[in-house]
Amino acid sequence: MKAEHYVGGVFRSDGPAFPLISPADGAEIGTVPEAPREVVDDAVAAARGVLRGPWGAAGVEERAAAMRRIADGIQARFGEFVDAEVADTGRPRAFAETVDVPRAIGNFRAYADLLYGRPERAYTTQVPGWSTGGGQALNYTVRRPLGVVAIISPWNLPLLLMTWKVAPALAAGNAVVVKPSEETPSTATLLAQVIDQAGLPAGAFNLVHGHGPGAAGEFLTGHPGVDAIAFTGESATGSAIMRNAADHVTPVSFELGGKNPALVFADADLDAAVDGTVRSSFTHSGQICLCTERVYVERPVFDEFVERLGARAKELADYGPMISAAHRDKVLSYYRLAREEGATVVAGGGAPSFGDGRDGGFHVEPTVLTGLPETARTVREEIFGPVCHVAPFDTEDEALRLANDSPYGLASTVWTRDLSRAHRVAPKVETGIVWVNCWNLRDLRTPFGGVKASGIGREGGEYSLDFFSEPVNVCIQI
Ligand code: NAD
Repeated sequence: MKAEHYVGGVFRSDGPAFPLISPADGAEIGTVPEAPREVVDDAVAAARGVLRGPWGAAGVEERAAAMRRIADGIQARFGEFVDAEVADTGRPRAFAETVDVPRAIGNFRAYADLLYGRPERAYTTQVPGWSTGGGQALNYTVRRPLGVVAIISPWNLPLLLMTWKVAPALAAGNAVVVKPSEETPSTATLLAQVIDQAGLPAGAFNLVHGHGPGAAGEFLTGHPGVDAIAFTGESATGSAIMRNAADHVTPVSFELGGKNPALVFADADLDAAVDGTVRSSFTHSGQICLCTERVYVERPVFDEFVERLGARAKELADYGPMISAAHRDKVLSYYRLAREEGATVVAGGGAPSFGDGRDGGFHVEPTVLTGLPETARTVREEIFGPVCHVAPFDTEDEALRLANDSPYGLASTVWTRDLSRAHRVAPKVETGIVWVNCWNLRDLRTPFGGVKASGIGREGGEYSLDFFSEPVNVCIQI
């Protein structure tokens, strides 16, 4: 597929093209234009322009209707979106059919609905009859959009995570400039086509392709015309973007990396805990920010859990590749490091050989490790592959200490049949999301995000609309 920029309602391909590589077999499957600074400038200017024009004047009904037309447009080209996501990421087709594309449609529908739960740009406080000066006043709060929002998204769930920001940003009345990952430009290009057809005013949605450092990502996040940045990606990239944004004091919403713990208590339903950990560690070959990379198991069931998890990891077939040769090499370097650090490799630990075209792709084996100290880099650093380290614990306090001893705090999973324990432990795990006896069960209205190095702010439902709009106090003296 030929990726294109979409700026001010016009498709264009300025900038040198770089190849798009299939992670499934290493073949070149398309080209991507690398946006020079002028394209980013044009996109920001187009976004500013439409805010002063038709998009700035659009009310709730018009914006909600636009969200629905976009959702319908994706639905109408469902198969093309699936094909594009599978081609760019190498993921199993069923994953794109059941997760990526339905969730993208759901993101636009959810925010169209949510807008009606919220009076037009004004809500919450009315405080009559009181002011610090002793006089009478009527206060109310107006919500207004932030303006031009830069959206920078990663490759692991390209369409899902991009639309998870685009939908609430547009719904709240902002204009957006999106830069998707250089590894996965195709569904973003399709989305631009859908939005073009959906008849949004030119400039409300803009798309620029290219890399991050010293390129489109950096031009955009350091741009003086950008009013807010919504970013999902690595924590180190978040730091770089924050530094770049500091000159203009641009507000940020960050969804960053994780090193997510699971706590398996001896009273857990062990079948469910093993099943759940297979899903939480190996879904999408571990390339979901919510995936479990540290598993702590209460000692009486430790050996059985490790044996069963290892056996299940060895049975896994038909898993997708790492996104790129570079990422495969990074994950394999952690497999080597784990051995150097003294790990026992219970399952996996290398790259598979299929004897077919997939051997040109970037696959690694689902891997289960044990025996490492908590200080090991393998246990502390995000690997972002199909790998977990399993360690025993003896008490609830120790389990919490181990889970919380991490620079990250995105998501965790607690496996127990003891209701009191579940309620006691869950609030004490230092992560933004705590799942009990499940993993990745999502209600799109709930707060989503991480603590510590895993992020700043919350997305989801009203939380996203709050970030993408500014409360303004209007005070009238009576
Ligand atoms: P990444 O940080 O390498 O890249 C993400 C995006 O940022 C890309 O579009 C990239 O081009 C851009 N970028 C890179 N450097 C930049 C810079 N200096 N300035 C501006 N833009 C820049 O992340 P990735 O490898 O694409 O994604 C994997 C990471 O994302 C993992 O760490 C994962 O945990 C995290 N993630 C977090 C969540 C969450 O919700 N918390 C969700 C998915 C992924």
